[in-house]
Amino acid sequence: MNESTFPGTQHLSSSTEPMSSTPDPAPATPAAAPPVTPAVSPVPTTAATPVQTPVPPRTVTPPSNYAEMPRPTAKLTAEDMHPVNEPNGAKGKIGPTGRPLPDLPDVLPPTRRGPAQVIAMCNQKGGVGKTTTTINLGAAIAETGRKVLLIDFDPQGSASIGLGVQPHDLEISVYNLLMQRDITPDEVIRPTRVENLDLLPANIDLSAAEVQLVQEVAREYTLSRVLEPIIPLYDVILIDCAPSLGLLTVNALTASNGIVVPLECEFFALRGLAMLTDTIGKVQDRLNPKLEIVGILGTMFDGRTTHAREVLDRVVQAFDERVFHTVIRRTVKFPETTVVGEPITTYAPSSSAATQYRDLAKEVLARCPAG
Ligand code: ADP
Ligand code: MG
Repeated sequence: MNESTFPGTQHLSSSTEPMSSTPDPAPATPAAAPPVTPAVSPVPTTAATPVQTPVPPRTVTPPSNYAEMPRPTAKLTAEDMHPVNEPNGAKGKIGPTGRPLPDLPDVLPPTRRGPAQVIAMCNQKGGVGKTTTTINLGAAIAETGRKVLLIDFDPQGSASIGLGVQPHDLEISVYNLLMQRDITPDEVIRPTRVENLDLLPANIDLSAAEVQLVQEVAREYTLSRVLEPIIPLYDVILIDCAPSLGLLTVNALTASNGIVVPLECEFFALRGLAMLTDTIGKVQDRLNPKLEIVGILGTMFDGRTTHAREVLDRVVQAFDERVFHTVIRRTVKFPETTVVGEPITTYAPSSSAATQYRDLAKEVLARCPAG
């Protein structure tokens, strides 16, 4: 594994229990919890002292068991669902990750087209926000004038559904592109209702590819090979991976230069991260040395609960500056967008949820060399 790419992950990959055993600060119990001010200052008191740069690598002692983690204690209120305007606070303030927020400059329109940065949304855990992030990050980047392609690489076809495409109605999908040499990308790619945003859809057929690809020559490079002709046509290509570390996901990682790891700010979130970083390391060593973690993204964050902040704090301890300053808060708006089949940036353009994905787009573009 390229250690410089993974600050703090050495520790995680050598441990099956990647969180700290330090006794947790007494979590608020429902009885003891005072009424909490909603989402304005989601900062744990322990993080009141900003971490100064340069940050020495911190060692984290793994927990002896997960029962030590604080459990959710508070129910969401309406205000939590719709935090007061500023999702992540202003520049210089301590952000939800416990670090001072950087000044993210506005993204300028692109000066040229391509070659595309290819970024995989990857976490073998399901329900962590991969698909939601692919769609909404993609739409937020498309808003900046960049040409974006979303690749649905999950046989469940959730990214396709989230953009209003019914997977079972598809006559041709990413499966055909992978398995049939006479199919070209333009036969499968379709525009979406969002300007600058195209979709390479998937459906259940893709699950057969996982098996059929095993017999292919250079099977790990199949997606990379079929994407080659369209790399110059896009600025950013986002791949929505399936919740597994099987051959399809290895294909996605081999075709990518970057990975975004969405992580639910929740109790068992860090479980499995060691296996994920191990797989990433193997792909880097054996298949794709260009691959880097663009960032770890906290999703479904509820700033009122001690345990959500604790989880985020531990992720920052392990991954330092690889953790995005932007976190995505929990809101009912996201399930709603799936029903209407469009991104949050068009469904509720001025919501804080849309602002959070626009902030994430700024961070992602700033971290990608070609911007
Ligand atoms: P994955 O692709 O990792 O399986 P999804 O993006 O499909 O995860 O998210 C799982 C579920 O959680 C979906 O129903 C989605 O609408 C919902 N969801 C995602 N992000 C949020 C959020 N920030 N707040 C509330 N619900 C969310
Ligand atoms: Mg998904």
